[in-house]
Amino acid sequence: MEKEILNLIESSSRILIITHVNPDGDTLGCASALKTYIGTKADILIQIKDNFNFPNTYSFLPHINNSKNLSNLNDEYDLIIAIDTASKDRIIDKAKNIFEKCQNTIVIDHHKTNSGFGKINYIKGGISSTGEVLFDLFEKLNIEISPDMAKGLYSAILTDTGCFKYESVTNHTFSIASKLSNIINTSEIADLCYTNKPKNLILFQNYLVSNAVFCLNDKIAYTLITKEIIEKYNAKDEYTEGICETLRSISGVEIALVLKETNNGVKVSIRTKEIDATIIAGKFNGGGHKRAAGCTIKEKINTACDILLKEAKALV
Ligand code: 5GP
Ligand code: MN
Repeated sequence: MEKEILNLIESSSRILIITHVNPDGDTLGCASALKTYIGTKADILIQIKDNFNFPNTYSFLPHINNSKNLSNLNDEYDLIIAIDTASKDRIIDKAKNIFEKCQNTIVIDHHKTNSGFGKINYIKGGISSTGEVLFDLFEKLNIEISPDMAKGLYSAILTDTGCFKYESVTNHTFSIASKLSNIINTSEIADLCYTNKPKNLILFQNYLVSNAVFCLNDKIAYTLITKEIIEKYNAKDEYTEGICETLRSISGVEIALVLKETNNGVKVSIRTKEIDATIIAGKFNGGGHKRAAGCTIKEKINTACDILLKEAKALV
């Protein structure tokens, strides 16, 4: 299958790399590395309507600053590659339309719940990150990893493994990190990912952690992000990243939930310790990984919270 992917990339004249909605370090790092490899005939799509929600944290990654968004996207592509995208629902609006119409599509991913919605599906469920999957793909194809490609791949792996903390991290993950550390300065990348945050992001996150609700002897912790609070802190989408992990990091908490009010329903983040988070996400057509999953509930935030808590309480 690797050769098939390479042939398709080489024979296509216009390629679009699609990152998933609410882009994180994994999808953006991989898109950056892939675009660096493919060159000028590839574009990256970040699914934002305007530049307010541009993911600034990752703007240090090569080419991310010059990505397409939903307002300047056209349909001139003969190959689309969806990267780190767990399901077709993580591609929205116009982009989904273009994806469905495109003659050739490739899905590169690591979500176990990904059913494979591309023409070619390169999905390695359970691997630490799409960064790891992509690194292996490059290696199998004897493609040399340049410093710019290494930046993206390392950022992808670092952020999606919670800095090499999660159980999906294996000996192989470390061996890739070791190879990448011969090409780039890894602590510099970690600083760019983690010690360069806007002040408002920290204040916003502190507010949400301070206002968290604990139930069932602290086994469940949740916090609600209303539109009001988003406005108060002028919070971008990326400001939400990490809050759910903070709640989970509390001793005794088995399930952490973050509910965020959006124009298309309530976006839910689920983080767990032992419990399978995809069981809860799956009740609402979502998915993800055992300890990190998500879904969207098309209800008002308080109703969404009630029905979500019912599912969570049934598992602890
Ligand atoms: P997050 O809470 O950071 O948005 O997502 C956590 C994990 O769950 C990620 O791996 C993400 O891909 C997955 N995920 C989040 N929301 C959804 C969703 O609505 N559908 C599916 N299938 N996966 C999701
Ligand atoms: Mn990922």
